[in-house]
Amino acid sequence: MKNKIGNKIYQITTMNYNDKLICVDLDGTLCEWEFWGEWEPNPKKNRIKFLNENVYQKWWHVIIYTARSPEFYQITLAWLIKYWVKFHWISMFIKPWADLYVDDKAVSDKTFFND
Ligand SMILES: [Mg+2]
Repeated sequence: MKNKIGNKIYQITTMNYNDKLICVDLDGTLCEWEFWGEWEPNPKKNRIKFLNENVYQKWWHVIIYTARSPEFYQITLAWLIKYWVKFHWISMFIKPWADLYVDDKAVSDKTFFND
């Protein structure tokens, strides 16, 4: 038997077979600048709104992935909640498998290798 909290956890961690995973970078993508733990970065509100309204729970499961050290997990989580970023997981310092990656420092392989 599950309580309300248990059901909520079950809902947000359950994926349908056709769901896709998208990894969205944090620093420079959803907020300005790089994060060094010394100040609170400004949110890119239009991008957060787009993510929330057009991606989250519309066949996509959103992973916020960041190169930030896990020691900044709490401050990172607090920032995401403060600015209403909808996501399913946070991955810190590890690149998870996904169907799509969105990153301010990314370039597609075809563009990079020009083939
Ligand atoms: Mg970045």
